[in-house]
Amino acid sequence: MTAKDVFDKIADYNTINPATNEDVYNELRQLYYAGKEEEAIAYIKDFFECNDFVAENAFKLFKMDAGSPPLPSQVARANAEALASQNKPHCPYCNSTNLHRITTLEKAADTVLFGVYGNTRKCQWHCYNCNSDF
Ligand SMILES: [Zn+2]
Repeated sequence: MTAKDVFDKIADYNTINPATNEDVYNELRQLYYAGKEEEAIAYIKDFFECNDFVAENAFKLFKMDAGSPPLPSQVARANAEALASQNKPHCPYCNSTNLHRITTLEKAADTVLFGVYGNTRKCQWHCYNCNSDF
């Protein structure tokens, strides 16, 4: 088996590690991005039962394909964005976060225009995605 053969198998989405049920490509990328290159090469060697030379060269091909690891600042920003999106209110109908908070003034205007039956009067949020108020 050549390094190219091994790399082709890594890049194949059907190559799953039966021990973890994870995509081999993803597992290697996690090791690579965490700076654990030796572990990644050992993983390739074990998984594909190849020698050091083939594993190292397959990992080189993999690195070219996977690209450089994200910078710590990029990771921090991605984490912050993920956290912010968890804390954001979601539309209960379509799960969109594209919402607008209905202000007291808008509620008052609605009451003036439509009287006590104004339909957004008791709602706090308007969803721009599905146009519902809740
Ligand atoms: Zn919605």
